[in-house]
Amino acid sequence: MTPVEVDPDKREIFGDTSIFLKLPNTCPFFRHQQGSERAYCTVHLTRPEICRDYGCWRLLILNHKGRRVGRIKYLRTLHSEDADLSDLWEKCVEEHKEPDDATWEDYMIRILNQAGYTVRR
Ligand code: SF4
Repeated sequence: MTPVEVDPDKREIFGDTSIFLKLPNTCPFFRHQQGSERAYCTVHLTRPEICRDYGCWRLLILNHKGRRVGRIKYLRTLHSEDADLSDLWEKCVEEHKEPDDATWEDYMIRILNQAGYTVRR
């Protein structure tokens, strides 16, 4: 548990909880700016360490030693300096044109698990 405080300039948007109708599983501190697709962390100034470390990365990929070797940004963008992971991604994941994001994610995780990686959601 980490105490956080709503940023002074984001108190107004924090009061608007309509984001949960569209994104029910989003972070309790994430808010859309009304009438726009722009969104903010409303506790940015005091956000927890894990958020400072992981930023906006959606999924983390660990190798067999538990070391972080890749991160997935947006829906399907891999960022990694691990040559083996990048190669596997290029050959087995990028080529897989599954339109449904949840199905694609399950597939991607299965492929990486089979190669010894762990994906942390
Ligand atoms: S940075 Fe952390 S606290 Fe802020 S919206 Fe994202 S997950 Fe929530």
